[in-house]
Amino acid sequence: MPELPEVETIRRTLQGPLINRTIESIEVLYAPIIEDETELFIQQITHQKIMDIDRVGKYLIFVLENDAFISHLRMEGKYYIVPKDTAYTKHCHVIFHLNDDLDLRYYDTRKFGRMKLVNVHHYRQELPLAKLGKEPFDIDPKALYQLLKKTGRPIKEVLLDQSVILGIGNIYANEICFRMKINPIAPANHLTLKRVKELVAISIEVLNEAIAQGGTTIHTFSANGIDGLFQVRLNVHGKKGQPCPVCGSPIEKIQVGGRGTYYCKKCQRKKT
Ligand SMILES: [Zn+2]
Repeated sequence: MPELPEVETIRRTLQGPLINRTIESIEVLYAPIIEDETELFIQQITHQKIMDIDRVGKYLIFVLENDAFISHLRMEGKYYIVPKDTAYTKHCHVIFHLNDDLDLRYYDTRKFGRMKLVNVHHYRQELPLAKLGKEPFDIDPKALYQLLKKTGRPIKEVLLDQSVILGIGNIYANEICFRMKINPIAPANHLTLKRVKELVAISIEVLNEAIAQGGTTIHTFSANGIDGLFQVRLNVHGKKGQPCPVCGSPIEKIQVGGRGTYYCKKCQRKKT
């Protein structure tokens, strides 16, 4: 599944070629991708210009002149920008025909991705975006500290709770705990304000590194035909049994909140 850095890379990749283009017509080949009634979705946004592409967590928001729609890629969703006369291939589910004979095409082998109309002015206050917490880039460490004080859940599990802190997926949660030198099962309410400040700073650092490199390649993802181009150096994630890059102890794998959790027993001894 693409995580925040991948979606941010997709956003940046799409922005240049799409901004100021007009949606001339839309073909929906697999209706369940559109959460609204298909005809309504098509009628509402046809003939509108794409003004911006925004992102909240892992959601892309196509901001048009009078409306907006959100797009969640889920497991395998991909966008391609191709000349209109390019042959359709399997798994192409939604086609936005743009001016200048270009198509924006949405592909999804798993068909789990979704699109939905939202209010162009208030989409952050609408579901599903309204229930999401703030990203590390925007969060106030003191507010996060107050939230964490209320829960004894493992810190690793809380890092994945999108209503507490938005945009950290499993890969990055493992890497953040490693850089914090914290045990992933340490209770969240054991963290001091100083440690929460560190947590926010390290989260920003890890996400920015991943964005700078365009995300990881652990799962297939693609924006505009870019596929498997980027690689982030991971210290612990997916490295069960391999030596810790700091101390050489074998990386352990446990389950925390049902998710594969990789850590170094020796380096990550801190419980606060
Ligand atoms: Zn170690």
